[in-house]
Amino acid sequence: MSDLRRLILDRIRDVPDYPQPGVLFKDITPLLADPHAFAAVVDEFAGLHQVDKIVGIEARGFILAAPAACRAGAGFVPVRKKGKLPSETLEASYDLEYGSATIEVHRDAFAPGDRVLIVDDVLATGGTARAAVELVRRAGAEVVAIAVLMELASLEGRKQLDGVELHSLVIV
Ligand code: AMP
Repeated sequence: MSDLRRLILDRIRDVPDYPQPGVLFKDITPLLADPHAFAAVVDEFAGLHQVDKIVGIEARGFILAAPAACRAGAGFVPVRKKGKLPSETLEASYDLEYGSATIEVHRDAFAPGDRVLIVDDVLATGGTARAAVELVRRAGAEVVAIAVLMELASLEGRKQLDGVELHSLVIV
C-alpha cells in the first residue's frame, strides 16, 4: 500500500449511524487537522491534470478543492446546494435515498471550453458527482476528471459517472 493511501486510511474516522441510523459516516476532520496529510492530499489533487478550474462540491469538497486550485494555478469554482449562490445559476437535481437534492453553479463560472477537475471528499452512490458533471458541461466547460479522497465501492457510484475518469485516493 502506498504511503499516501495509508496516511489517508489512518486519518479518516468511521462514525456509525451519523447523520442517521445505518449510515457509516466517513469523517475527514482528523486528516484535515494533520498538516502533513492535508498537504499531501492537496498536492495529489493539484498534480492530477492540467486544468483551468477546479470545482469543489459543498461543503467538504470546498476544503479540498480550494487549496488544490491555488496549488495548481487553477481557478476555484463552488458547486453549492440550491439557494446559496448569489448570481444567475444553472441547477441539477438528483435522487437521494429519501427524496432529492438540487445543486447549482454560477452560469458564468467557466470560460467556454475550460478544462475542469471536480473534487469531493467521498463518492457514495455517485448522484452528487453525476449532477456536478452535468452542471459543468451545461455551463460550457469540459470535465477532465473527478477526484475524491474516498470511494465507497459497494455503492457502485463509479457506474453513475458516464465514463468520466475517476481518481479515488482510497477505495473501501
Ligand atoms: P453520493 O451522491 O451518494 O455519492 O454522496 C456523495 C456526497 O455525500 C458527498 O458530497 C459526500 O460528502 C457525502 N457523503 C455520502 N455518503 C457519505 C459518507 N458515508 N460519509 C461521508 N460523506 C458522505
